[in-house]
Amino acid sequence: MSTSPIFEANRESTDRQQTTALMTELQSFGLRLADPGAGAPSRRGGAGPSDHKAVTVAGTTIMVPVHTGSAFNSPFIAEAPDADGRVQLKRGSIPIAQISFPKQPRFYAMQTLDGVPYSHIATLHGVDVLATTVLQTCIRYESRRKSCKFCSIGQSLAAGRTIAHKTPEQLAEVARAAVLLDGVKHMVMTTGTPATPDRGAQVLCDSAFAVRAAVDLPIQAQCEPPGGDDGDRWFARMKAAGIDSLGMHLEVVTPALREQIMPGKATVSIERYMEAFEAAVAVFGRGQVSTYILAGLGDTTDAILDISAKLIGLGVYPFVVPFVPISGTPLEDHPAPSPEFMRSILEPLGAMLSAAGLRSTDIKAGCGKCGACSSLSSYEKQDARHAAR
Ligand code: SF4
Repeated sequence: MSTSPIFEANRESTDRQQTTALMTELQSFGLRLADPGAGAPSRRGGAGPSDHKAVTVAGTTIMVPVHTGSAFNSPFIAEAPDADGRVQLKRGSIPIAQISFPKQPRFYAMQTLDGVPYSHIATLHGVDVLATTVLQTCIRYESRRKSCKFCSIGQSLAAGRTIAHKTPEQLAEVARAAVLLDGVKHMVMTTGTPATPDRGAQVLCDSAFAVRAAVDLPIQAQCEPPGGDDGDRWFARMKAAGIDSLGMHLEVVTPALREQIMPGKATVSIERYMEAFEAAVAVFGRGQVSTYILAGLGDTTDAILDISAKLIGLGVYPFVVPFVPISGTPLEDHPAPSPEFMRSILEPLGAMLSAAGLRSTDIKAGCGKCGACSSLSSYEKQDARHAAR
């Protein structure tokens, strides 16, 4: 018996919606692992979201918390992989899906001539992103009074899993190997904020210039809006150095909450971020500038959607991700956001992005393009499919 194209389209749409819902739940609850050594190593500590592992669900790779307190109590369990790398995902004792873990990249086996493992210089994120934190120290992190309470940039350094300053030459060497051996498609360069007025822009320029001279790899740089009288002039310099897209991360959007959760970083006001976004979009182009917003730290759905509407109006991609309570940070016991809360933001945000024609797939490099830390791009695609029908 043949089925009608409408039936097939509806079934495909239902399957997609179920997969998107599962990804949102996995990122909220986390995952228990029967075999913690399976696949590429999980990430502990460092800048940005951490304590999670890359998991491929229905062909899409997402980062799922595995080392957080909530992950230890998650209803989801991943069984050990079979001989072909397939992993049974269970909710309680009920098998619900087949997933897999991306393999350990080949460049992790290499080291520089002076003995620094390549994995201490840059790591694989998602399936095809090379990520590095150029400066693993931060003026904000040096004092608990000023530090961002969700951040663990110093943890991987203290544990000896990375080095404090990656030189341009080291980054170029590792990027070349990661492209040749593992086919990475783009690179994320973030940095702790140094004490200089450029807030890291110079070190990102130097690093990008060296990488682009060694290999053809689109790069997203991430830093705070550069300060000083000529702060916005850094955007043209960054572009000239080979940076394709830029992330300036608000993290939290309600001013009083910003002061409470990230007192140092909150000294750069939301108004300054908005000015900098406008200037950066004029240089990098619409959709090539993005911001990271951590949902679950106290901002309401309306607060996140309101600022997202303004950002989209400026041509900025608001990459909203679920907050991950990283072990060892002051917020390690803060609850992860519920799947319902995440859906209340990501569903309308996906529709807003589709309506504005801002697509994660059009971003040249970076977190918005990778999308592994949030199920946002699935909501965005889901909405685009509805519109096309
Ligand atoms: S979204 Fe960004 S931080 Fe998350 S895995 Fe991808 S590149 Fe890394």
